[in-house]
Amino acid sequence: MIVSKCAICGGKVEERKISEEVKVRNDFVVIENVRAGVCAECGERYYPPGLWIDLEALREA
Ligand SMILES: [Zn+2]
Repeated sequence: MIVSKCAICGGKVEERKISEEVKVRNDFVVIENVRAGVCAECGERYYPPGLWIDLEALREA
């Protein structure tokens, strides 16, 4: 688990698999089955640190 409590509203953060659409240069790339924390109250998302490293690699490809 990345975080257990939402930094914004204090709600419970649950781990879920989500799909995230990310802009890479002029294209949108959908990354599926990303494990992220999602706040049950406000929907804020918390991503694992490694995710954005992968995205940076995509941008440079
Ligand atoms: Zn929240």
